Amino acid sequence: MARRRKVGPGCGECLGRCHFNSLKYEVTIDKPNIDHLSCFGCGLCMTACSRNAINLVGRKTLPGLVNAW
Ligand code: SF4
Repeated sequence: MARRRKVGPGCGECLGRCHFNSLKYEVTIDKPNIDHLSCFGCGLCMTACSRNAINLVGRKTLPGLVNAW
């Protein structure tokens, strides 16, 4: 599962990379946001990010997502 790190303003390079439609620009935080329930964890968004603002974490680290996918 992809997780956004706490970095400065979002550039949006990752938007459009997700085949699961899990990345959307969130106007309230002025950054792309990841829907963790629909994220497959493929890492495509991470490879698109030149600021290293996205990393992958195991689903089991978040109890609410253990049974997702
Ligand atoms: S890891 Fe893959 S599925 Fe998850 S948000 Fe990134 S591109 Fe989408």
